[in-house]
Amino acid sequence: MEVFKKGSNIFKILSEAVSEGIVIVNKSQIIVGTNAAANSLFGYDEDELLGQHLDVLIPKKYHHNHHKHVSGFMDKSHKRQMGHNQELYGARKDGSQFPVEAGLNPFSVYDNNYVMALVIDITVRKKAEQELKHWANIFNESLNEIYIFDVNTMLFIDVNKGALKNIGYDISELRKMTPVDIKPHLDKEGFLKEINPILEGKKDKLKFNTTHQRKDGTTYPVEVHLQKSSTGDHETLVAIILDITEQEAYTQKLEQTVAKRTSQLEEALVKEKELGELKTKFLSLVSHEFKTPLSGILTSATLAGKYPREDQQEKREKHLKTIQAKVKYLNNIINDFLSIERLESGKVKYNYTNFPLSKVINEVIYDANMLLKEGQNIVYPENIDAIFIDFDEKILDLILTNLINNAIKYSSEMSTIHISATEKDDLLIIAVRDEGIGIPEEEQKHIFNRYFRAENALLNQGTGIGLNIVKTHLENLGGSIIFSSVQDQGSIFTITLPITN
Ligand code: ADP
Repeated sequence: MEVFKKGSNIFKILSEAVSEGIVIVNKSQIIVGTNAAANSLFGYDEDELLGQHLDVLIPKKYHHNHHKHVSGFMDKSHKRQMGHNQELYGARKDGSQFPVEAGLNPFSVYDNNYVMALVIDITVRKKAEQELKHWANIFNESLNEIYIFDVNTMLFIDVNKGALKNIGYDISELRKMTPVDIKPHLDKEGFLKEINPILEGKKDKLKFNTTHQRKDGTTYPVEVHLQKSSTGDHETLVAIILDITEQEAYTQKLEQTVAKRTSQLEEALVKEKELGELKTKFLSLVSHEFKTPLSGILTSATLAGKYPREDQQEKREKHLKTIQAKVKYLNNIINDFLSIERLESGKVKYNYTNFPLSKVINEVIYDANMLLKEGQNIVYPENIDAIFIDFDEKILDLILTNLINNAIKYSSEMSTIHISATEKDDLLIIAVRDEGIGIPEEEQKHIFNRYFRAENALLNQGTGIGLNIVKTHLENLGGSIIFSSVQDQGSIFTITLPITN
């Protein structure tokens, strides 16, 4: 024991020169010597540890294991490093713990066995290791792809799991490759040009978009973030790659949606404008077109009032008929306008029912009779009693009313209007023929344009919207309209519609 006591010069000189903590224990694990480094490591004063059991330097929870260890070690008696497979901790006087690395050296003096433990506080190193592990984890677990490659050879040095997974090569394959090998649209020259600002030190970081090609040949758009770095004496470039397939798809979709919405908006604006124009037109038409019949109605009503006597019944009836006809006429114009408004605003809703053709024809002709001029007559279609159709009844009424009223309006007194209806396959063909003024040939091509009125029709009242809505409705319902006309001889308008819906 004497040999380790204070004042024992050999030990003192040797041990104080060593920066590691030295703790010497005897066979019974009693501390027989410590150096200044050990005292300060464990927080004791000089000589304070002498005579104490080694356990005071070891956290309680490790005592049991440690005892077994030490006795085993004493028996084998050879030099070794402790804690290779597990973490070792020291306990300070104040109870705190710290990670240590310890080397054990057995020796004997005067036949007594001792063990000298060299103890290093590895708190700082441990922390650095942990930090490194943390960063390595981030590198590996990152969902982005990370590639590290050599500045000079351009060969990949390391890549993370995310990269391996997406690109499809394994690390040994990649180590023989450079970034150019996974960029189908860039050759070496192009790539060097792209990253030149970093190579020349003009920039610390770079960001650019390109395409990467997987081992299986498929490609995907990427955003590359490139930065200079170094490992050991290697100058490296670190590339963080974002697969922007979804982002691009999203952007594309967004652009398409924007384009679609814009065109919808434009369409809506056009419609809105047309509706606005229609309203203006309507107002001016109302003032023109309504004025004449309204003043006619007023005149007839006034005149009718002038024939109160019973024997004047015939005269009264004549005026009342005129009133009826003019009201009917106004009603038709309003129906046409409502139809336009609905067609324009997309609000039109067709209502299919099954009905006999004769019903609509009878109603339309009955109403048209009021408008007939002197000596005009309408010839009913033959053999239509058995014809039933699936169609919008009100719309068919509107179509036929327009055609028959035109035929009456644009032909002279004493003329005949012929209506025919025939079934052909699944189609119903209805023709309205008159012997009237006809349509000048050069104007025929405009006849279905809204508000168009032929030169020879201008003496008659009209709005120029009837044929336009007739055609639109028919087309919406799977039908069609054609006509042929010779000026001053007459016209025939023929509509075709499906019998079944
Ligand atoms: P409106 O009769 O109110 O003017 P329409 O749209 O019904 O409007 O007809 C458009 C134009 O077509 C008429 O102004 C006229 O020039 C011509 N038209 C239509 N039907 C006939 C017909 N049966 N005979 C001669 N011209 C016609």
